[in-house]
This record gives sequence, C-alpha cells and structure tokens, in this order.
Amino acid sequence: MADTDATMSGRYPLTEPGLWVERVGSRVFPAGRPALFLDRDGTINIDTDYPDDPAEMVLREDIAAAIAAANRAGIPVIIVTNQSGIARGYSGWGDFAAVNGRVLELLAGEGASVDMVVACAYHEAGTGPLAVADHPMRKPNPGMLLEAGNRLGLDLQRSLIVGDKKADMEAGQRAGLSQGWLVDGQAAAQPGFTVRPWRERDDFDGLLAAIAALGAVSRKP
Ligand SMILES: [Mg+2]
Repeated sequence: MADTDATMSGRYPLTEPGLWVERVGSRVFPAGRPALFLDRDGTINIDTDYPDDPAEMVLREDIAAAIAAANRAGIPVIIVTNQSGIARGYSGWGDFAAVNGRVLELLAGEGASVDMVVACAYHEAGTGPLAVADHPMRKPNPGMLLEAGNRLGLDLQRSLIVGDKKADMEAGQRAGLSQGWLVDGQAAAQPGFTVRPWRERDDFDGLLAAIAALGAVSRKP
C-alpha cells in the first residue's frame, strides 16, 4: 500500500506506524505551561464520520474563538484525535494529512493556531500493525495527552480538554487534568475532575474565562 510506503520513508511525522506527533508552527512555550487540548472531529470540525475529504471540512461555531483565546493567553493548543478509520482501512495517513491540513487552514483563516497535533490510528478492528486493542495512545487512554505533556513540559493538572465524547473527558481525567468541556454534554463531577457542558453561550463564556485565567497565572513571574 502506497501509504505504508510513505510512512516508512518518513514522509509523515509518525513516531510508530499508528501514531502521528506533529509540532506545528514555531511558537516556543516555557516549561510548566498548561495546555488547551482539543479533540478534532465533532469538536473542531463538524464530524462527517471518518472524514477523508478536505473539501467537506467545516468548523464548528465558536471553536476558532476558543483556540484564538488560548493563543492570546500564551497557552499551547494541542489536537488529540483518534483516527481508527486508518486501522479499519477506510483511509490512510495521506488522507489524514490532507484533512487535518484543511482544518488547520480553516482555523488560521479565523486567526486561530494549533501548536501540536497527535493522532492515534490503532484499533482492535484494524489490520496489520494497526490492529491493537486498547492501545495506550487511543482515547479514553491518556497516552496522547501524556506524550504532548512530555514533549512540551506541560502542567497537565491545570490543562483543559474540549471534546464531544465521554472518552475525551476520561482521557483528560486519566492524564491528570482537572476539568473538561463536553460539547452538547451534561455536567458531571468525579473525584478530581469536573466535566462542564458546552451547550449554551454561558458555557462558552466559561471556557473563555478559564483559558484567560490560565494565561494570567502562567504569566506571573
Ligand atoms: Mg470527536
């Protein structure tokens, strides 16, 4: 398969066959910063169900504004996305590169920048090397967040996650974060972790306030 050949030749930022870790842009962050983690499909872009066509990508309302707020606050923005469609053979890393590039382009058009992209292709229903059940990088496991945390020296406890599935919130909780926003979700509190809904304008305002507060704390000498 051509895509596998490209993977092996280092065409894509893969650290192993099923894990994409890409540093985007050149902004430098001091160690100890919290991050804004975001799921991608259904959170940043409207989920088109295993998206493989860049032309179909549409941003969800207000998501660019949340990312831009993190940019202004000096908070690294990190996409953490499960891409089991690759394991299942629906698409390849080349499709992921094209779709993700389009998502980043749409965000840039609204003044919002992402600093790192981590994507996990492993899934038990896959074939070949991508057929791994319960891979530590696949949400709800926390591996992608921990990987980004190690690479950027993040303060995970103060970091935030936004997602549209409970698996996103669970990954955040297991990575040691203390709060997350669940798109169209319900509020829930578990020991050490608070799930906040993102349904109404007030919810969005709360997220912006949390991001701004992180920036204010991070900038204290
Ligand atoms: Mg999602």
